[in-house]
Amino acid sequence: VDEFSLIYDLIAPAAGARSDVVLGIGDDGALLRPPGDDVLVAVVDTLVEGVHFPVGFPPEDLGYRAVAVNFSDLAAMGAEPRWITLALTMPRADAGWLQAFMGGLRAACAPTGTALVGGDMTRGPLCVTVQALGSVPAGLALTRSGARPGDRIYVSGCLGDAAAGLAVLLDTAVDRASETCLVERFARPTPRLALGRALRGLATACIDVSDGLVGDIAHVARASGCAALLDIDAIPLSAALMAGRWSSGQRRDFALAGGDDYELCFTLPPDVGDARSPAWPSGVPVTRIGEMHPGPPAVLGRDASGRVVPLGSGYRHF
Ligand code: ADP
Ligand code: MG
Repeated sequence: VDEFSLIYDLIAPAAGARSDVVLGIGDDGALLRPPGDDVLVAVVDTLVEGVHFPVGFPPEDLGYRAVAVNFSDLAAMGAEPRWITLALTMPRADAGWLQAFMGGLRAACAPTGTALVGGDMTRGPLCVTVQALGSVPAGLALTRSGARPGDRIYVSGCLGDAAAGLAVLLDTAVDRASETCLVERFARPTPRLALGRALRGLATACIDVSDGLVGDIAHVARASGCAALLDIDAIPLSAALMAGRWSSGQRRDFALAGGDDYELCFTLPPDVGDARSPAWPSGVPVTRIGEMHPGPPAVLGRDASGRVVPLGSGYRHF
């Protein structure tokens, strides 16, 4: 199988079509019609085998995940996806593998009507780079830098599932059937696109939780020039995580530092937060987990007894 039959027989048919794609796969570049008054939002993420996903990870999940992690970045900007490009490095031309991969990629793109408009193929250790281009009305993009003292901190969904799911995947001795739902949260994260759009004009800051809550909220604190205080016991944990074989300390570590959850963490002024919660139009549950405070950028944690401890860069349990 040569490179071009892979592109034209397997990739192009799964690319998807849109009216704002003037010319897609097949030429030296794609021709795209940018949206009228909106601004374009460009994001890119690389997934390396053995670093971002385990060796032997199913190709359909890899295709899905490569798109979903990029859509999560677009969600955190309040943007909606339009187009993606795909740079694929594979050890050999394996048509069966590529077909499964494209199935997962298409499944992630389809609900948003996003089209694959170009890419690149090379031989080498398995590595997937997806770039996503989206749009947001001018002036309404969400950023990390607008949080102010007094703003409340919220998170969507539950945290810690993906880290637990990855631990299950890496531990070959466990009974995977009982923990499929946690593995699924790692393999097929759900980008919170509708919530990101709903937060336009409301959230003062927003970030997606990709590297772990503490590290990610630290970026908001730094960009906004204030401190974040998290109520440790308010952090939402799923029933699946609670039912697992982990200690309460391990669950807390997964939720605070685990990463890969791709939930949105955002700040709202107190009046906006009180008026909105808990009813969000996007359907995903949203939980208040702390508030911003005056002071130098830092992340602090408050436990049930009210004791406040720093959760700074020293907080590394992995
Ligand atoms: P060039 O040599 O000009 O970079 P190629 O011959 O490598 O172009 O690719 C031919 C066409 O196929 C281009 O439109 C390119 O964007 C597209 N393409 C190549 N690899 C991929 C891929 N992995 N996914 C999507 N489109 C691809
Ligand atoms: Mg060319």
